[in-house]
Amino acid sequence: MNAGQSCDPPVVVGVDVGGTKLMAVALRGEEVLGAAKVPTPASGLGVLDAIVNLVDDLESAGFLTDALGVGAPGLVDLEGRLRFAPNLADADGLELRAELGSRMGLRRSGLLDRKAGGPSRPDQTMGSQGPDIVIDNDATCATAGELALGAMRGVRDGLMVTLGSGIGGGIVVGGNLFRGAHGFAGEVGHMVIDPGGPMCACGKRGCFETYASGNALAQLAREAAQAGRGAAILERAGGSIESLRGEHVTQAAAEGDSEAEALLARLGWWLGLGLANLAGIFDPQMIVVGGGLAEAGEAVLGPARLAFAELIEGARFRPPIPIVAAALGEKAGAIGAAVVARRSLLRARRAAMTGDG
Ligand SMILES: [Zn+2]
Repeated sequence: MNAGQSCDPPVVVGVDVGGTKLMAVALRGEEVLGAAKVPTPASGLGVLDAIVNLVDDLESAGFLTDALGVGAPGLVDLEGRLRFAPNLADADGLELRAELGSRMGLRRSGLLDRKAGGPSRPDQTMGSQGPDIVIDNDATCATAGELALGAMRGVRDGLMVTLGSGIGGGIVVGGNLFRGAHGFAGEVGHMVIDPGGPMCACGKRGCFETYASGNALAQLAREAAQAGRGAAILERAGGSIESLRGEHVTQAAAEGDSEAEALLARLGWWLGLGLANLAGIFDPQMIVVGGGLAEAGEAVLGPARLAFAELIEGARFRPPIPIVAAALGEKAGAIGAAVVARRSLLRARRAAMTGDG
């Protein structure tokens, strides 16, 4: 009997660990069964518990998770350890895969007790410990999502950047994700574009993300407010300069505030510069821009395209490279984490079948 054809499509949960929120989706095939989000806890251990709770919340709809994928910001190694996470408090060295494995196992045994006689599922490969768990970089996951189900379907060579609290990146070469020798490829947010620039959370100065991320936009808004500009933006932060965040700018711009539009245009110029540098190296068919800041749409992508055309080598002599918004929106990272986990699960099932003869 072919077990691969006899079982239902697996249910996979993907979690995107962002600087401000954790977004989770449950996926079966291409269908999103459910989604949930919570603010990002202030510690790595808090993040672990929040992920387990999100899975639990999603499973209350009546399914059991076959595989769990988690996209985490920073350097995620091939063993699922978060080695360095400049934009996530107290998370350097976090053993995400191992810690989540034991927590999910404990939770699962409790769940199975509680729901005895409840949902059953074929347990052909995993035993009853808990779901298969895969950890990857958050932007790599978002790229996997856009490649499988979004704007990059069918693309052979492409780039994605995610503009959140920081900037992440994903590289597609020959239709596959490029991960590098240690799993760290695509950390585009920390390429230095101005050695004398602002301090970055990573400890260097003038990284790309100090100019073109959500945090950079918040900084631009604070500087504008200190100079007495941007009243409509400041109003959205309750009048507090310290509370200003990138989304206050994008909200004000969406309602036509000219100062907010000017700040987004400035950020867009830096985005265009960074993308031109990257396109010079990778020569992509297209560039996808995701993350929370991409919700600003043309207010940031328009200026980025202009700067890109101005700054890339020999723009007039090469085919245009489309710069488009992520099709999966704010769920790209979570959906992509689920896609990555499903791929790993199916690979493990195939290997188990082959091993069994
Ligand atoms: Zn940096």
